[in-house]
Amino acid sequence: MDRRPRRSNIGPMYRFRTALVVGCGRSGRAAEALLRSQRCTVFSISEETTPDYRYEDIHFDPEVIIVSPGFPPTHPWIVDLVRRGIPLLPEIELGWAHRHCPVIAVTGSNGKSTVVKWIVDALAQAGQRAVPCGNYGFPVCGAVMLPEAPDWLVIEVSSFQLETIRKFRPDIGLLLNVLPNHLDRHETMENYRRIKLSLFKNMTGKDTAILPFGFLRTSENNLSLNTELIHLKSVRKTFGAESGADFCYSGGRVGQIDLNGTWFANGILGIAGAAVAAVCETCGIPPSAVERSARVFKPLPHRIMPVAEIGGVKYVDDSKATNLAAMCAAIRMCHGKIHLIAGGRPKESDFSLVKDLLAQRVSQLYLIGESSGAMQVAWRDVVPCNSCETVERAVAAAHGNAVPGETVLLSPACTSFDQFRNFNERGECFAAAVRGLVVKNVNE
Ligand code: ADP
Repeated sequence: MDRRPRRSNIGPMYRFRTALVVGCGRSGRAAEALLRSQRCTVFSISEETTPDYRYEDIHFDPEVIIVSPGFPPTHPWIVDLVRRGIPLLPEIELGWAHRHCPVIAVTGSNGKSTVVKWIVDALAQAGQRAVPCGNYGFPVCGAVMLPEAPDWLVIEVSSFQLETIRKFRPDIGLLLNVLPNHLDRHETMENYRRIKLSLFKNMTGKDTAILPFGFLRTSENNLSLNTELIHLKSVRKTFGAESGADFCYSGGRVGQIDLNGTWFANGILGIAGAAVAAVCETCGIPPSAVERSARVFKPLPHRIMPVAEIGGVKYVDDSKATNLAAMCAAIRMCHGKIHLIAGGRPKESDFSLVKDLLAQRVSQLYLIGESSGAMQVAWRDVVPCNSCETVERAVAAAHGNAVPGETVLLSPACTSFDQFRNFNERGECFAAAVRGLVVKNVNE
């Protein structure tokens, strides 16, 4: 490999003769297939699947590096490639450059997959074919190689992919929220916010940026944020619970400020429904289609997913909530008092931030996993805490205490890796324990 520094240059067509794909996961393999279909010579390396290659031994001089989101900018390979001036591109941008239809891109800290699914469902209700891709569904490079071009691509974009975008420019960009997450990689909230806002940076007056109403308010804390937003060239639409938002969520319904009328009852998904309405209105979808999609919306597994109702108590699986902000969103979306099962391997250390919400909405806590002790110390003065260790014991204890009209919610605010292989397994364990209660209930 030529190690001399050179100028970073990517032509307008994104056609390459030589490329190096770093990371061989689903998106890396899709990038490889797309590049090969264009007769590009591609070489792939990854720490897991090509351990025989040493990075230093690769005698290959690529025009571009397609970098997997799993590789942080501080990874020694990436540091070396950047130092040598070889352009990096995220897989989503390579795919985007080969799109055959308009693109909706969704980013945010929590709720992205759920909202992508809802947008796809709403477009389908209006007779339009949308393909979900990015972090959810196909890799973008795979979606653009489908035999038939859809009407829309709806891309779920993570901050890891936004870190390396150059010209990526969705026709409609939605930023759902920016809450503490992935700070191990992005270090500060300021950095993380800046990366999230880069979704909008290449947009022109023909494009639409949709963002939370609160982001446009000036405050001492987000001056730099506002500077970025002032330079936005695209059309802006806002959503939120505030009455000034273009698309407003209030009292369980979503309305558009200009129309005075209520669009639709929004069920369990809260403010996100206002964001979906803003996207759909921009796509020219009639409110009736969005309303229909809201009525029949089926949540993705383990995301605020109703599992059963036993003796008037609802059981909800939100195992995907791996941070405090996600747990808070789930608590807000449940009705009545909550018996909350939380804990696992924590990503955050300051649990006290959520005390007020717990005091208002949670009647008892059932703590599991590694974070159990720390959570108990942080929360026991506002909510009674039960130390349960496992999901099964937590479900049994919550079942013993909950009364009709209440909800037993698994929303752990932690990763599952201390007790499970992943959040799916944790959610399935919860659902199995709840099914056990159903059987018990029938036999009693
Ligand atoms: P992401 O794709 O951003 O990880 P998901 O749609 O998979 O988001 O949902 C992850 C978790 O985020 C859910 O389990 C829930 O706790 C929380 N969540 C779901 N919808 C929203 C929303 N609209 N706003 C904030 N948090 C949400």
